[in-house]
Amino acid sequence: MINRVLSGIRATGRLHLGNYLGAVKGMLELQDNPDYETLYMVADVHTITTPYQVEELRKNRREVILDYLAAGLDPEKSIIFQQSEVNEHLELAFYFSSVATVAKMQHLPTYKDKVKQHPDHVTLALLNYPALMAADILIYKASLVPVGIDQEPHLEVAREIARRFNQDYGTDFPEPKRFATKGEYVPSLTGTGKMSKSVEGSYINLTDSLDEIKGKIAKIPTDGGQGTDIVGGVKNLFEFVELFEGKEKRDAYETQYKGEGVRYGDIKRELAEAIFEELAPIQEKRKQLEANPEFVNKVIEEGAFKARNLARETIDEVRFKMGLK
Ligand code: ATP
Ligand code: MG
Repeated sequence: MINRVLSGIRATGRLHLGNYLGAVKGMLELQDNPDYETLYMVADVHTITTPYQVEELRKNRREVILDYLAAGLDPEKSIIFQQSEVNEHLELAFYFSSVATVAKMQHLPTYKDKVKQHPDHVTLALLNYPALMAADILIYKASLVPVGIDQEPHLEVAREIARRFNQDYGTDFPEPKRFATKGEYVPSLTGTGKMSKSVEGSYINLTDSLDEIKGKIAKIPTDGGQGTDIVGGVKNLFEFVELFEGKEKRDAYETQYKGEGVRYGDIKRELAEAIFEELAPIQEKRKQLEANPEFVNKVIEEGAFKARNLARETIDEVRFKMGLK
């Protein structure tokens, strides 16, 4: 049995540091491991589960592909595609929704977060998000999923659905596991919650300039620079220091904070520079890709073709085993 890997990012905006550290870094690691066959998609259908603008979606589904390629996803090694190009995901999601209970879906923390964010937009599509995600993964019989820790409850649902289907219909779906990275939870710049594309002021994009990064880091809420407990924005700031400048540096700042005190101006400037240093080569690559739209079109077209062929095999099997064929 081939080890397949599936991951995706919603087309709600350009990629940010959370997407990069929590998902893309893991995607890159598995792409470069010859033991795995990797499929990476833009989750454009997932985008419609929360309010969106049509033209924004059209633009963003391509932006995510550009960010993927700029960050190092390689069409020679991975199947890179847009979810909406493979209808079979939607079909399987509907079959899966026949074993997913409303009660279970309503209790997921991701669902509750989105309900809070969009109280006037609590739809069946939002409730069904985890069934669609299970279909994204299981249609390729993928066993490993490089995603951030916020997605763990969705993976649990995917495992439950796989078990139920295997029991009821004799399918052989694997129970997919999360592939975790060091940056599995990147905090928001606002001081509460996680960095998210759809939360304004929470993120740093992979395409931000050094000045933009400096400006955003400057806004992380801090305090007088001294104290006994490290919480809120200060904790997040130190978290970023660890992610981009190493654990030793973080430990040193924490000791200083509890002792003579720290100077946030210096810490924030150094951090912004460290972040930019990591992003500069990605930005360089992105410029080249922007100048070569034919190449990007070809990646999208070939990715859809390859993914569709794999997805059809599973759909045929499932239809037959469910008595629909
Ligand atoms: P949205 O606000 O539209 O939901 P998002 O920023 O949460 O956008 P998603 O497209 O939902 O991004 O998630 C894409 C991938 O990035 C997933 O694997 C998710 O776990 C990961 N991810 C998102 N935010 C973070 C974060 N703050 N830290 C680590 N990983 C993250
Ligand atoms: Mg999200």
